[in-house]
Amino acid sequence: MSTPPPEADSAAYLSRVVVLAGPTAVGKGTISAYVRDHYPQVWLSVSTTTRPPRPSEVDGVHYHFVDPGEFDRMVAAGEFLEHAVVHGSARYGTPRAPVRRALAEGRPVLLEIDLAGARQVRASMPEALFVFLAPPSWDELVRRLVGRGTETPAERAVRLQTARTELAAAEEFDVVVVNDDVRRASEELVSLMSSPRPPSAVAPGSTPSSP
Ligand code: 5GP
Repeated sequence: MSTPPPEADSAAYLSRVVVLAGPTAVGKGTISAYVRDHYPQVWLSVSTTTRPPRPSEVDGVHYHFVDPGEFDRMVAAGEFLEHAVVHGSARYGTPRAPVRRALAEGRPVLLEIDLAGARQVRASMPEALFVFLAPPSWDELVRRLVGRGTETPAERAVRLQTARTELAAAEEFDVVVVNDDVRRASEELVSLMSSPRPPSAVAPGSTPSSP
């Protein structure tokens, strides 16, 4: 385990929402896991999903796994801050209440979500910081997707198609972080949580909204 940089001290953080998005297999999950393990003061949102758990995944830790009926109920009850169908199959959503609680406790909040979800959060919380995680290259992205072996060839083809569209969206984000090294990229992400917002990211006349 590494020694966190000084800004990992909770007092140094501003309470804010950071949205991390990026193409499939770029390593968003790995970066989130690194942040969870090394920066416990950062509150990492646990998404709800209708996809089945992978063997290593624990309900309530990696995701809240629910059936489509329960997901529909949560949508109807307005329990999601955002939700989306990802890769044309399963549904994913960010439960709203825990985000609100973490912000009320003054903790920095990290959401690791897809592009459609990030756009919804942008609409309702323009004061959040939007971070795009990019691969060092397209070839490296393909290599990571094939290498992790969690998708069938058909699923992989769908995800690569989604990734092409997602890469083109990098310019919509406030900051691009290149995932060339998990520790370095994670530290850059965490340092963004405690630094002032870039002036370009503040829309004129925008006021903070509640989640
Ligand atoms: P996976 O099934 O590989 O864990 O995740 C697939 C995709 O779903 C990833 O791109 C991940 O960022 C996205 N995702 C995970 N949780 C959420 C969520 O709560 N909302 C949205 N919109 N996307 C999510």
